[in-house]
Amino acid sequence: MTDTPRTDVLVVGSGIMGSVVARLLRDTDPALRITMVDGGSAIGEVPGLHLHDVDDPALWSRYNEQVDTGIQGMYTGAEVVREVADSLTDLPPGMFHALAFGEDSEAMPAAALAWNAGGMGVHWTAATPWPAGDEVFDFGDPARWAKDLDTARRLLAVTPSAIGPTEVGRTVLDVLRRRFDGVGPDDRRAQPMPMAVTATASGPMPRTAPGTIFPAIAAGGDPAFTLVTGTLATSLIVSEEGRVAGARLRRIADGAESELLADAVVVCADALRTPQLLFASGIRPRALGRHLNEHAFITARVLLDLDRFGIGLDALPLPRAGEFSTDSLWLPRNGVAQPFHGQIMNRTYVDEEGRPLAHSVGLSLFAPVESRPENRLVFSETETDLAGMPRISVEFGYSDADRALIRRALDEVRSIAEEFGTFDPASECALLPPGSSLHQTGTVRAGLADDGTSVCEPDGRVWGFENLYLASNGVIPTAMAANVTLTGAVTAVRAARAVAARHSALTAH
Ligand SMILES: Cc1cc2nc3c(=O)[nH]c(=O)nc-3n(C[C@H](O)[C@H](O)[C@H](O)COP(=O)(O)OP(=O)(O)OC[C@H]3O[C@@H](n4cnc5c(N)ncnc54)[C@H](O)[C@@H]3O)c2cc1C
Repeated sequence: MTDTPRTDVLVVGSGIMGSVVARLLRDTDPALRITMVDGGSAIGEVPGLHLHDVDDPALWSRYNEQVDTGIQGMYTGAEVVREVADSLTDLPPGMFHALAFGEDSEAMPAAALAWNAGGMGVHWTAATPWPAGDEVFDFGDPARWAKDLDTARRLLAVTPSAIGPTEVGRTVLDVLRRRFDGVGPDDRRAQPMPMAVTATASGPMPRTAPGTIFPAIAAGGDPAFTLVTGTLATSLIVSEEGRVAGARLRRIADGAESELLADAVVVCADALRTPQLLFASGIRPRALGRHLNEHAFITARVLLDLDRFGIGLDALPLPRAGEFSTDSLWLPRNGVAQPFHGQIMNRTYVDEEGRPLAHSVGLSLFAPVESRPENRLVFSETETDLAGMPRISVEFGYSDADRALIRRALDEVRSIAEEFGTFDPASECALLPPGSSLHQTGTVRAGLADDGTSVCEPDGRVWGFENLYLASNGVIPTAMAANVTLTGAVTAVRAARAVAARHSALTAH
């Protein structure tokens, strides 16, 4: 009989959250044994590298064909795919609609799951605006919040002014600044979108991905780190009241089952599957799956009226080689006066010879949605999804206040668009179906007290457990308007610090 393998820290999920946790743990202790498991396998040869930056031309063009709408939900296909694959082993690694994964997510039809090493972090657009006002959850310690946000920015390599502004982009920003003059502080005026990319003088800008956050994911070379792909954590082993002893694993290729013991476990399995794994393990606090949130996604596109702005066709910017937009810009949310997050991605259309034809301002407004317990994930005791995990049913709807804000956002987007050119809201604007942003939050939310409205402490430790932690957008308790990943990474920073502190306290004795 062989001994059950053991690690110091088990990280479930190799996406951005898992990689931030692993990287920070490694920075604090070079010898800590970290094992990371992911149900998905690598897309291409190397796990965790962004598809924007892979050498394989076939993979690269597949990614770029899907991404150029600039809309997260469309990446998984303009049509929502409902047909469930016959078996998990037939599924190539990639992104799939939750419906196609066998979840009952009709209430959030565009919700999608990453089923690949590196999670969504090898697909994402990498817009990383920072949260403010009601989005912040500093739990009474603003200085620590600011520090943790800075750590998250550093690990994600957030670049303040990455794609643009070009001259034309500056014109767009001028319009927005005039329109929203004085609604917020100077650092939250309309500006270039902070992006998690490495700035380069020319050519494409490499995206931050799990394999750049924690290079051992992609390159190996860390003797105390093990990445196990194609292996699902089916449940956590709850050994005694208040402790987990590790996880039960299932290899996807052949169904082989095993156990891995761990001194601490950090679940980083996204906002849908983190609570799913807890449920499968019999860990079912009242708030589990509740307060599911996602901002509404209003998207529009308007052709810039070149005559109005005195811009000649020849003056239109072209994107850098390897990029699709000329400018990635940000209209920050600023309280009630400007409650929407604006993501503006502009492109120049060209003819067959590459000569500019027109310039489009791609205008998306994200409207925050109230955080309500009745918006939730329900996990089945009897039915399973494609991975054999408890089937997820999504219950999600907009409140009257949400609907009023969405109407306001539709009016606002129309009025902004008309500042740039002739705009037909019927054909050039849409409220996308729920799930489209892939910015789900709240399902394992953090809170200050174990009062039934939260699943974990501010540092991600699950209430009632001494060695089980969560890092996820699902931990975010606030109603976010902005893209959530930088904010979600704060939960990974906090969880990593808590795990490192626990480990050093234990080893000191
Ligand atoms: C096309 C696209 C564009 C996006 N653009 C932006 C953007 O511009 N800005 C922004 O903020 N966000 C954006 N996002 C969202 C962003 O990518 C996610 O917020 C972020 O990557 C989530 O990271 P994560 O680690 O929490 O989850 P994931 O990346 O989903 O990783 C979770 C991992 O856990 C694994 N897993 C799940 N369950 C189990 C289990 N039981 N056992 C083992 N493994 C498991 C999965 O296989 C997956 O690899 C975008 C997403 C996409 C797809």
